[in-house]
Amino acid sequence: MVWKKGQKPEQYLFTITEEFATDWKILKQRAKKNNQNISEVLRDSVNSKNEYSRKKKALVLSPHTDDAELGCGGTIAKMIEEGWEVHIIYFSAVAERYPNLVEEAAKSSKIMGVTHEILDFYTRFFPRDRQDILQALYDHSKSIQYDVVFTPTTTDIHQDHGVVTEEAKRAFRNCTLLGYELPWNNLTVSLNCFIPLKERHIKKKILALDCYDSQKHNPYFNEKFFRSVVKMRGIQLASDFAEGFETIKVRLDQII
Ligand SMILES: [Zn+2]
Repeated sequence: MVWKKGQKPEQYLFTITEEFATDWKILKQRAKKNNQNISEVLRDSVNSKNEYSRKKKALVLSPHTDDAELGCGGTIAKMIEEGWEVHIIYFSAVAERYPNLVEEAAKSSKIMGVTHEILDFYTRFFPRDRQDILQALYDHSKSIQYDVVFTPTTTDIHQDHGVVTEEAKRAFRNCTLLGYELPWNNLTVSLNCFIPLKERHIKKKILALDCYDSQKHNPYFNEKFFRSVVKMRGIQLASDFAEGFETIKVRLDQII
């Protein structure tokens, strides 16, 4: 919709939606009351409606394929269900050791209903590539405005996870940043944010994780363990299930 030269605000307004047309009287009253030009009031109203109807966007930073699903797979399932757009960046697929990981991650992303990309950083060498990781995150942060970014907690002991989280703090300065737990990497953890989940969200998480055949040799990689973690967090929240997060940073105007 373009505001044509010479077109009056009323004409522009009535061509947008009927809903706007019914608001016209109110907008005129507001302009008069605030001693504002009707064009300004109309522009603010359109902007606020656009903002309201904009799909919420979340980004999940996954140092290795499967970290995203392990740490916040249930939350991703819930966000998708509620109309969010979710994108996952997998930083490394360990292709030299697990040639099927790229395919497994693609399958998992499809089940979750998210978009994804796989970068080619070398597993266990993220500290060496810290600057390049920061640049990749910085470039990404400039291209899309996210409402929330998920990353491993600040107390995660894996060197690759630590680098991603440290650089995320630098690259994503203007949105909420939540740390997801991976209990085998968290000797200590401070979870102060919980997202309540239902059985269907947990099922989706487990279905996605089931795509990672190459990772099933890991001691933590089994359904009983996945369920025990979300059950424990659920009990802490008086909910069926939950995933727990560390609030690294919260942008309040996205909530209030
Ligand atoms: Zn990892």
